[in-house]
Amino acid sequence: MPHRYINLHTHRPTGIDNLTEIVNIELSNTLPNALPEYCSLGIHPWHASDNNIALDRLNKHAKNKQFIAIGETGLDKVRCGTYEQQLDLLHKHIELSEELHKPLILHCVRYYNEIITLRKELKPKQAWIFHGFNASVEIMKQATNHGFYFSYGPSILNSKSKAAKSLLHTPSDRLFFETDDSTESIENIYTKAAHILGIQINDLLSITNDNFKFLFNSI
Ligand SMILES: [Zn+2]
Repeated sequence: MPHRYINLHTHRPTGIDNLTEIVNIELSNTLPNALPEYCSLGIHPWHASDNNIALDRLNKHAKNKQFIAIGETGLDKVRCGTYEQQLDLLHKHIELSEELHKPLILHCVRYYNEIITLRKELKPKQAWIFHGFNASVEIMKQATNHGFYFSYGPSILNSKSKAAKSLLHTPSDRLFFETDDSTESIENIYTKAAHILGIQINDLLSITNDNFKFLFNSI
């Protein structure tokens, strides 16, 4: 079977055939009536201060087989919600990810060390994926040592970004790509990544297809 493009995290489903996309469903919004084939379900840290009702719904809906991952959730130093509120919310997602055996998709702004330390302490069995990873090679290496996965998005289109530099050193068995909430096509992201890595797009597709199969047990 030919390899498919995999978009690990998108807020803008395309529904295009021959593309596997994990559509982010944010619980602070109403759930769509018809869910795409693959989704993730979470409460964004930006909504950490008003999550009580959403939490009940997270517990209720996360078992649904279309939710193949939990998140996005995480820690964000720049936007609203206190650190304690965000951390509390993150812990609830971690518990659910372990209980339901579904990987965790993480949003992280300037809290990489805190999240790496959390994984070190909690030793979860499920994979944790930094989505939209855009941090230094040093942080990427520390996170790699603790078993993290990395999903690179539109930031790699800027060759000078930390993301582009980190991508070059990321082990291939930890690699994914995404468009997040941008209007960029996933093909463009793969084309740029293949260029940075100096490999053929087909090889990159093969790598991410293997990683997807390994983490999500399907394609
Ligand atoms: Zn997102």
